[in-house]
Amino acid sequence: MDLSHYESFRSKSVSGRYLSPEHLSLALQNPDRNIQMDQPGESVNGLPVIRLRWGNGPVRVLMWSQMHGNESTTTKAVLDLLNFLCQTAGQKDALEEQLTLEILPMLNPDGARSYTRENASGVDLNRDARVLSQPESRILRSCYESFRPDYCFNLHDQRTIYSLGASPIPATLSFLAPSADSSRSLPVNRIRAMQLIAATAEDLGEILPGGIGRYDDSFNENCVGDQFQMAGTPTLLFEAGHFPGDYEREHTRYFVFNALLSALKRVASSSFDGFLPAQYQALPENGKQLVDIRIRNAGHLSDRYAPDQVLAIQYREVLREGRIHWVPEWPAEGLSEARYGHREWDASRASDRAEILQEPGLKKLLTEG
Ligand SMILES: [Zn+2]
Repeated sequence: MDLSHYESFRSKSVSGRYLSPEHLSLALQNPDRNIQMDQPGESVNGLPVIRLRWGNGPVRVLMWSQMHGNESTTTKAVLDLLNFLCQTAGQKDALEEQLTLEILPMLNPDGARSYTRENASGVDLNRDARVLSQPESRILRSCYESFRPDYCFNLHDQRTIYSLGASPIPATLSFLAPSADSSRSLPVNRIRAMQLIAATAEDLGEILPGGIGRYDDSFNENCVGDQFQMAGTPTLLFEAGHFPGDYEREHTRYFVFNALLSALKRVASSSFDGFLPAQYQALPENGKQLVDIRIRNAGHLSDRYAPDQVLAIQYREVLREGRIHWVPEWPAEGLSEARYGHREWDASRASDRAEILQEPGLKKLLTEG
């Protein structure tokens, strides 16, 4: 779908990176009559976990977003998707007679409020799928067991570090058909997930040529996707990533919306059987070749650096007064080896030095950090 058409479905009550339970309530305060809404349980801090149901069709799709509270892009896209589905209901080939969707748009409302990956107990819910120690994990599991989905969509954001393989191109979207065992074998449900990803990636080729990656498929039975794949349900991980200049992920939101719509149309019409696992395998695997900022010849900034030293700098996302701020920091975990920056400067050039010193927080980091 082109961008101008999409704008008519964009949920106006959510934008930017911070999407709290209050924002979600606002977006859902006058739900379309075709959306059923209830609360299958509560978070650690007693916030409701909202469940939405839409459609009357035989093919059941379960999706959940903001399992990691600071990963809001897919939630925005899901709200846009619901607007689209409700506004186009009743039209020719409408999806409501083919699909039933069950959606947990914000599985981790406490983490969404505090803008943290973990829930209020400090637990990463995507490492809790086997033990089910947290109420949010148990809510998702019970929804899975009662709904008995034909497909699961596990919706996340990924960091700005991810590149398409060794290239400097950001992985704006990545997909994964999670493994169901440590040998990464190919049971039929995993093959179905791979075929569906291959079909969806092809559909997206028109609007996002060459921006789609494949997430690492190491098996971890504590991860939700791996658990549902083990249980025999074709499960797809969607990772919303960086698009050049789009730290608010409003453009990525548009790509995720299209990915969700495409995948749903494909499952509704069973029109992905002809795709091959090899087409999924041919998507470039996510690399870690990118940092937010890379500065060459740093010795021209300060004598604390060697003349030709290369500096890698990564933003930390900080919630302040209801908005996300991007604070430059030295990266952890070996990212200083990253070969490319979303922004690159050469400090031997006076014009680049002037830009570097004007960048909020950067002068302080470079001279004191
Ligand atoms: Zn995540």
